[in-house]
Amino acid sequence: MKQFDFDLLVIGGGSGGVRAARMAAQRGVRVALAEAQGLDGLGGTCVNLGCIPKKLYSYAADYAAGFEESRGFGWAGEAPSLDWGRLKSRRATEISRLNGVYANLLRGSGVTLLEGYARLTGPHEVELATLNADGSPGHQGYSAERILIATGGQPYLPHFQGREHVISSDQAFDLDPFPQRLLVVGGGYIACEFASIFNGLGARVTQVYRGEQILRGFDDEIRHFTAAEMRKTGVDLRLAAGVLAITREADGLHVTLEDGNQLVVDVALYATGRVPNVEGLGLAELGIEQGADGRILVDADFRTQLPSVYALGDVTSRVQLTPAALGEAMQLVDHLYGPAAGKPARRMDYELIPTAVFCHPNVATVGLTEAQARERYAEVRVFRSEFRALRHTLSGSQERTLMKLLVDAASDRVVGLHMVGAEAGEIVQGFAVALKAGATKAVFDATLGIHPTAAEEFVTMR
Ligand code: FAD
Ligand code: NDP
Repeated sequence: MKQFDFDLLVIGGGSGGVRAARMAAQRGVRVALAEAQGLDGLGGTCVNLGCIPKKLYSYAADYAAGFEESRGFGWAGEAPSLDWGRLKSRRATEISRLNGVYANLLRGSGVTLLEGYARLTGPHEVELATLNADGSPGHQGYSAERILIATGGQPYLPHFQGREHVISSDQAFDLDPFPQRLLVVGGGYIACEFASIFNGLGARVTQVYRGEQILRGFDDEIRHFTAAEMRKTGVDLRLAAGVLAITREADGLHVTLEDGNQLVVDVALYATGRVPNVEGLGLAELGIEQGADGRILVDADFRTQLPSVYALGDVTSRVQLTPAALGEAMQLVDHLYGPAAGKPARRMDYELIPTAVFCHPNVATVGLTEAQARERYAEVRVFRSEFRALRHTLSGSQERTLMKLLVDAASDRVVGLHMVGAEAGEIVQGFAVALKAGATKAVFDATLGIHPTAAEEFVTMR
């Protein structure tokens, strides 16, 4: 049998790659992990430029409303002001700590860490672009019985006049100075989250979305409600709108909208989707099939056409969420190297994936939208509750909460659960277990509420 340097070489130290490498190494497999950004990039998008720094900034942004609302509860005095530089440096310190935690976890599991941009040069061969001792570019070749591509994705920016003046979410975390006037283009997860974050932190935010309503793919009523709530917080949301051109002038970026209107902003943030990181990987040379957008095509066990090469996570553009990349990694390792002792082999289940958009207020959902439920089931019972949260009876905030349950009348099963409101992500996570377990509306009805909470509405809707 041919001797390889490693049993498994993982390309990409993000959510999927790190989980696969660690789990495989714990099975006694000889694993290497190559990360283009070096050890400081361990954790990938989620840790460095995604979920974690985004959520930290989201917490920071929420304080603004909190300071304001506290007056209704008797607090007085001047509201504190934001030290943007301190927030950025506190975030950077925390992210560095997490990079270190990832490096230690990998090393502790026996994974060999390699730094450099990887390219496949054969079914079992990978070449890493490295630096020689004198700083000149060099290459280092490795062989592995199996190769896993987990290279994630990167922001997609459309082509238009002035593209060179815009940024993506990658640059948004370290802006200097803080943008007093911000344009956000897009109506998806990132656009809504960053519009809320910068609005909360004190910027004047205009969000421009080309469609009729933000958050395509979510329940229609939830989309409308979220848009109305975001507007209440101060985001200037413009629907069915687009950017024609952007020019840089002395007083800022001049944005010409398709309707002829002009805006002047400090920063234009495009959140117009993400594309897989496949450039320079050598896929075409090896005949690895890709979708039209570049995504790597894999079978149900994440195998590409080349039997020794696998791919998972954002580079396959299935579900672009960290828990999905983690779930795929665990399925792959169980499939290739067997499940952990005494445990069944795990399979990633793409049904009932809960998800949250951390805009203000949060949106969270699991299961079908009302339109999807009506398409799938003959009769759908819809339960909804819209209210002002107890907290806001004194806070003075006009924020409202919406909760919605969709029930298949024939089986009584709850097939969709949606919420717009404070801590929606925290609340829906628990209810996702109930839906996964096949809970019926009768089970929801038989469950006592925790009083007084917003979440109790989900078990008291009649
Ligand atoms: P990644 O985490 O992107 O990791 C890929 C790694 O591969 C990177 O470190 C990259 O440097 C490396 N790499 C690329 N090419 C090469 C190469 N040729 N050689 C070596 N290394 C290479 N998901 C959630 O679930 N919740 C959230 O709240 C959330 N928020 C997000 C916010 C933002 C702004 C963004 C952009 C994404 C967010 N996501 C969120 C999505 C989540 O980050 C991704 O789904 C997840 O990181 C995908 O993991 P991955 O392992 O596939 O890829
Ligand atoms: P999304 O796919 O969610 O949204 C992209 C947005 O950009 C859509 O509103 C889309 O419009 C719009 N768009 C696309 N192309 C153009 C164009 N040429 N001109 C103008 N608008 C355009 O992508 P994001 O970048 O927001 O996020 C990528 C993925 O990352 C998400 O889908 C999600 O899986 C993940 N993510 C998860 C988060 C979470 O879990 N909280 C947070 C952030 C990201 P249209 O709808 O009309 O196509």
